[in-house]
Amino acid sequence: MARRSRTKTPIAEQKPKVRNSNFNEVCLGYTIEEGQAEAIRCLQCKDAPCIKSCPVMIDIPGFILAIKEGNMQEAAEILSSYTNLPAICGRVCPQEKQCEQVCKLGMAKNFEPVAIGKLERLVADWALENQDFSKLSQSDQPKIGRVAVIGSGPSGLTVAGDLAKLNYEVIVYEALHDSGGVLTYGIPEFRLPKRIVKKEIESIKALGVTIETNVVVGKTITMDELRSEFDACYISVGAGAPNFMGISGTALNGVYSSSEYLTRINLMHSYEFPKYDTPIKRSQQVVVIGGGNVAMDAARCAKRLGAEHVSIVYRRSLEELPARIEEYHHSVEEGIEYHWLTNPIEYIDNGNGDLSGVKCIKMELGESDESGRRSPVPIKNSEFIIEADTVIEAIGQGSNKVLLSTFPELKLTKWGYIEADPKTGETSIPGVFAGGDIVTGAATVILAMGAGKVAAVQIDNYVQEKMKTPVTTKV
Ligand SMILES: Cc1cc2nc3c(=O)[nH]c(=O)nc-3n(C[C@H](O)[C@H](O)[C@H](O)COP(=O)(O)OP(=O)(O)OC[C@H]3O[C@@H](n4cnc5c(N)ncnc54)[C@H](O)[C@@H]3O)c2cc1C
Ligand code: SF4
Repeated sequence: MARRSRTKTPIAEQKPKVRNSNFNEVCLGYTIEEGQAEAIRCLQCKDAPCIKSCPVMIDIPGFILAIKEGNMQEAAEILSSYTNLPAICGRVCPQEKQCEQVCKLGMAKNFEPVAIGKLERLVADWALENQDFSKLSQSDQPKIGRVAVIGSGPSGLTVAGDLAKLNYEVIVYEALHDSGGVLTYGIPEFRLPKRIVKKEIESIKALGVTIETNVVVGKTITMDELRSEFDACYISVGAGAPNFMGISGTALNGVYSSSEYLTRINLMHSYEFPKYDTPIKRSQQVVVIGGGNVAMDAARCAKRLGAEHVSIVYRRSLEELPARIEEYHHSVEEGIEYHWLTNPIEYIDNGNGDLSGVKCIKMELGESDESGRRSPVPIKNSEFIIEADTVIEAIGQGSNKVLLSTFPELKLTKWGYIEADPKTGETSIPGVFAGGDIVTGAATVILAMGAGKVAAVQIDNYVQEKMKTPVTTKV
């Protein structure tokens, strides 16, 4: 038998100098043969730790064995029994901090873990190409009940898919004109092609889920109306309201929030202006503030729009960078520069109300904060200026208040997120469940999905229980 390779099977990617001027996907994915070569590396551990560190507990050795045996259909069926969005998770999950981090092969000296994410993506893409979702079976039995889902991001889509599989009528209400949440308006095409997101959403609709777009719950329709019309509600409105540094010069032309910048590009296709109506500034010198996936995405978009010089200003060091390591490496290959241990203190006006530079201060790391990371402390007299015509703030998002402010009965945490039991998704109001970023604060796709899976089971229990004890009013 061939020796088990120490390293992951290489995967094709667009070359950095080619891809940094287009929005096409960077990673081209495994062929089936490459996937089988990688699948052979899996040890098929009996007590597989990779399963336990996956928030939706996918049978990882099971689907990898099916790939190894050349049975893609079986691999796809295993995946779809755990996750409704495998093509998305295979692309954007931080596997290096989850399943791949604990992979037993990766624990062996000089061995890399199995490329679990890339194998998941291979199977999911195969299924999207080869399965006819219109033939998915929908039960002709009377529906068990009606559930309203608010927000069509990964959390809402997961609840909707799981409840539809359990024979519920599910209507998803989405504020934007397109569904998918951050998958559609936040994560760029070169990491997550929108045709993949659309296909995954089509497969959820094929289960019988209805998605109504352009409905802002709290304005177009109230929570009270939904509660009287449905047996239960699931709130998954995400954490999409941008935070700002609040430093002098924020109102200058050329200062963007990452939410605006990325929404213009991803949702409104401004990178294809004038084919699409929405414009975007074509910048030369761009500074992005922050160190998460959002900052990487904004910087790499700016480069692709033709900026000569793009740098990321981050107040800590590479060690603390919260972004996915793969995305950091990709950004460096594409020519993005980094100012570590640096923080902006002022945006400079060119005299006409336009940005001309970002005044920064150097930082050093002090004591550890609540998150366990060492807090950055400014170094006196270390100010310097980075020339810039555009700055994009990617320093985090908070909860959007549109729905919450019209539903004051719902208990919130001190940070303004919905208080919900992580084991059940139950909120302070019976029949109203919540999950995803609106409960945890900005987190990850798979955690939002995990919360959705948990809540779907609990919503089913709740409705079944309610059916046994008839009541005159709903929820
Ligand atoms: C730019 C960017 C890059 C990211 N990259 C990664 C990554 O690489 N890997 C990863 O795992 N995670 C990543 N994340 C985080 C991840 O996308 C989120 O954790 C995840 O999308 C949260 O899912 P959700 O369903 O809770 O909310 P969301 O995806 O935010 O969806 C919420 C939906 O609710 C809608 N909504 C809001 N208010 C209302 C209302 N009142 N009525 C109706 N609808 C409403 C919104 O329009 C939105 O469509 C990234 C986030 C961003 C912003
Ligand atoms: S831990 Fe790694 S080697 Fe073991 S089953 Fe999971 S993927 Fe395979």
